[in-house]
Amino acid sequence: MASLITCPHCGTRPKEEFSIRGAAAPKRPAPAAKDEVWHRYVYVRDNPKGRVLEYWHHVAGCRRWLVVDRDNFTHEVFGVMDASDFERVRGVE
Ligand SMILES: [Zn+2]
Repeated sequence: MASLITCPHCGTRPKEEFSIRGAAAPKRPAPAAKDEVWHRYVYVRDNPKGRVLEYWHHVAGCRRWLVVDRDNFTHEVFGVMDASDFERVRGVE
């Protein structure tokens, strides 16, 4: 069975149309943040098993950036939203 992702702009599409670009959970530090904070943001990441938020790019579709809420062990998808909506809901530090 193919894995399907429901793009909020294009509808349900096969995962092969998308490119995964990494964890969406880390928040970008303020420009004036200390070097240690930037180092952790850029180079140090957790590697959780289970439910994660990831940036996905709909390369073969609308070319929008999305945030996919999924389980990286079972591959169950819980939700998909446009990345701009995700950032607006999450807020800025
Ligand atoms: Zn799309």
